[in-house]
Amino acid sequence: MVIVPKANSLSQPYWDAARDGQLKLQQCSHCSHMWHPTLPNCPRCQSREIIWTPVSGRGTVYSYTVVHHAAHVAMAKRVPYVVALITLQEGPRLVSNLLECAPHEAHIGMEVELAFQEISPGVVLPQFRPATADVNH
Ligand code: ZN
Repeated sequence: MVIVPKANSLSQPYWDAARDGQLKLQQCSHCSHMWHPTLPNCPRCQSREIIWTPVSGRGTVYSYTVVHHAAHVAMAKRVPYVVALITLQEGPRLVSNLLECAPHEAHIGMEVELAFQEISPGVVLPQFRPATADVNH
């Protein structure tokens, strides 16, 4: 069993970008603020002039937790796993699974990079994993 997120009219560009191997976030055309998750207007200035901007996909772990008890039967085989609050280089923070990272290896300040995972045909999740050491940024 796999839990598959469902796009709506607001989030469709996010999922389309993920399927194309990009992470795009909403950005205000008026004040340049960028945020996630998806909203119908800018949380800073309330403007509805919003564009979708690709981000680097690189960031650092701001905080994290290790999930030991599956909240859904679909997650039972994955525990324990790491869920992190990640600060992107561009500023916004988002919650993501931290893949390829044993719970004891996770730490605050860890550099991370995007890791796309197709969880169902045509549905790609942007997630993160520890950054590879040889990538300059
Ligand atoms: Zn704004």
